Amino acid sequence: MREEELKAKGVKWDLSCFYSSAKDSAIQKTIKDAEKRTDDFVKKFKTKIESKTLTAGFLKEAVETYEGLYNTILKPMFYSSLLFAGDCLNQEYQDFYQRMQTILANFSAKTTFFELEITGIQDGLFKKLLKDDSLSSYRHWLEKVRVFKPYLLSEKEEQVIIKKDLAGKEAFVRLFDEYTSSFSFDLEVAGKKKTLTGPEIRSLFQSPDRKTRKKAVMIYYAKYKENSLVLKAILNDIIKDHSIDCEMRKYPDPILPTHLSNEVTREIIDTMMDVVQKNYGIVKEYYKVKAKLLKLNKLAGYDLRAPVGKTPKRRTWGEAKKMIIETFSSFDKEFGESARLFFDKKWIDAEVRKGKRGGAFCAGTSPDLHPFILASYMGNMSDIYTVTHELGHGIHDLFAGREQSLLNYHPPLVMAETASVFAEMILTDRLLKELTSKDEKIFVLTHSLEDIFGTAFRQTMYTLFELDIHKMGKEKQMSANEFSKLWIKRRDEMYGDSVDFTEEQEYFWSIVPHFIHTRFYCYAYSFAELFVLALYQEYRKGRSAFIPKYKNLLFKGGSDKVTDVAKELGFDITRRDFWQGGFDFISSLLNELKGIV
Ligand SMILES: [Zn+2]
Repeated sequence: MREEELKAKGVKWDLSCFYSSAKDSAIQKTIKDAEKRTDDFVKKFKTKIESKTLTAGFLKEAVETYEGLYNTILKPMFYSSLLFAGDCLNQEYQDFYQRMQTILANFSAKTTFFELEITGIQDGLFKKLLKDDSLSSYRHWLEKVRVFKPYLLSEKEEQVIIKKDLAGKEAFVRLFDEYTSSFSFDLEVAGKKKTLTGPEIRSLFQSPDRKTRKKAVMIYYAKYKENSLVLKAILNDIIKDHSIDCEMRKYPDPILPTHLSNEVTREIIDTMMDVVQKNYGIVKEYYKVKAKLLKLNKLAGYDLRAPVGKTPKRRTWGEAKKMIIETFSSFDKEFGESARLFFDKKWIDAEVRKGKRGGAFCAGTSPDLHPFILASYMGNMSDIYTVTHELGHGIHDLFAGREQSLLNYHPPLVMAETASVFAEMILTDRLLKELTSKDEKIFVLTHSLEDIFGTAFRQTMYTLFELDIHKMGKEKQMSANEFSKLWIKRRDEMYGDSVDFTEEQEYFWSIVPHFIHTRFYCYAYSFAELFVLALYQEYRKGRSAFIPKYKNLLFKGGSDKVTDVAKELGFDITRRDFWQGGFDFISSLLNELKGIV
């Protein structure tokens, strides 16, 4: 089969549900309308929310108006962000996206009084209002707003921060995206000189040929090393910005805002991360087994993602579609139907293009607008896993959108990875059942274990590294070398002596977009993975009884705290043994692998 046929050439998303193009005059109309309604909102509600005579009815009207406004402005915003992600190098899209960010910032600045006043409502009155049935659907959102009460600044200060962020934090995020997506990599593949995009060269990390893997890894990281002057500056500025923010708001530590927005306590996350670290031994043991499987004395850093066993054949986009829909359908009919929508209605952009944002994502912005998925599909099993993962998000978004309005729509970060990781587990289960050859099973088991490692272990390691750099970066501008040193320390705690990394890989810290985009996001992956392993064990125990419970969890979107959701499922996430349960499952997978070998 030709290389081109294996890729998803021409599989682009259809964005006509938004506007006809970035030049569509309807965009301006939407913005004008939103601006007028924002001014009306301010006129009607400003200074009235903090009032001692505030009624539930008036507060409800305010929340609904605010939510409606937000929804209106999100449509052109969402559109511009998708156009930009699809072609970061397009000047028109860059301008449009930036213009929309300014408009959104203006909207946030004008309406920032609202959340401030909500936090200013007197405690007694607030409690009374919450008991009112008319506010029941916004109860959780209102409580969530008040969580930040001790850390908010005056309205004027908040407005200045929002506006200055555009040329500060937000600008660095944009710079990182534009800059790294402009990277191309020159490499000789099968005797031919090629210029590859980031996703293309990264797919070679999984090449069965050791020389190719090595070359790809070296060239890829060398590019980041070459550009470390810019990349370390971006990371330094992101850290500095956050440290200024924490100082002004009096956050005692830099990770606290993330915990608050996730509605988890520091104790819960510290317990989880501690249990993860105590289980690092599993990682070390696994990579020693992997070295044996590859008939090597010891793994090199470029062998980490080498395929083991028999690589399942590469699949065309059409074959992948069939396989993915069948996988979701075998779990539940409604899941299968939902997955199909994404393919049939062109909600997925899967082709490989220069200038397209790297990695993959599912963007569900508002329940009124269905989610969109971006991936760069190249026919490998790992690409099928990626699309399945993003579809898990997509189905979660669709389900939540059915029952929740905008303010309750987004699950908290720690729950956001639940459906995606669960979807991957279903795929693994199915593959292990269907494949009959020992070598193919070894492939799936190792792939699945490495996937779990990538989330349960590695993302905690990322978070520990992030804590380190925020601590050091608060005091001084860090050099690329200092970032590398801290990186190596945390990396080696996890891999121990099981892997010899190359020098170029010391620049790994500069490739992780989450460090730039959403600080401390990474622990949410570990949380979700271990939470899913617990869910998955429940599923295995009582399949049919489990599915309605699981759907219910997805329908909830962000309308409940994770601690409450967990309690409803009978999980106690404050306990070490809850988290350890996930690792016992991982150990059992490792034993299964050792058994086959
Ligand atoms: Zn995800």
